[in-house]
Amino acid sequence: MMKKECSIVRDVLPLYLENMVSEDTAVFVKEHLENCSDCTAELEHLQSGVQIDVEETPQREHDAEIITAFQKKIAKRILEAVVAVFLIFAVLFSAMLIYTGISYPVTRDNISLSTKADGGYTYIILETKAGKSLWFESKSEDILNDQKEVCGRRITLYHLQYHNNFFNSAGSMSWGRSLKDEEPYMEVVVELEDGTLQISNQEYIFR
Ligand SMILES: [Zn+2]
Repeated sequence: MMKKECSIVRDVLPLYLENMVSEDTAVFVKEHLENCSDCTAELEHLQSGVQIDVEETPQREHDAEIITAFQKKIAKRILEAVVAVFLIFAVLFSAMLIYTGISYPVTRDNISLSTKADGGYTYIILETKAGKSLWFESKSEDILNDQKEVCGRRITLYHLQYHNNFFNSAGSMSWGRSLKDEEPYMEVVVELEDGTLQISNQEYIFR
């Protein structure tokens, strides 16, 4: 059974440990501890408890280091993913530039001209190869009759080149002219390496 003195010493032991007791109390506790192994053991237990508290700080620092390392690892992964995506896009974009940069000759068999009348207008339609975009230069000029009067319009396409185009499933372009115009005549001339294609809307004008 714990002695009454022990009970008092136990109450003040935490304060004694922190040097927060009066000199008289300190002397009293010290003398008691010299003769009481139970209270000395309790003091050691308290001291070890204090030491555990002190040791917790490095443990937390260690945890913090682990978290920081983990965050760095995630940041590295994200950076790697961003770089990978960027590289993939760079490669695809370069491939697309190279692919679309290659030109193909435009010949009479891979281009077609046709005419159409619709709503008082005549159209000349140029159809191009699927998956290709057509590059060309053009000029537009008046057509003069024997009396040097303007009687129509001629559109000439030259320096034609095909380029690959992912998004052009089947291309076409058209030129329209109203039949009520004073000079409704229109013709399109396409100058190709293997010859010239020419078409006019006269079948609609003189019908
Ligand atoms: Zn005691």
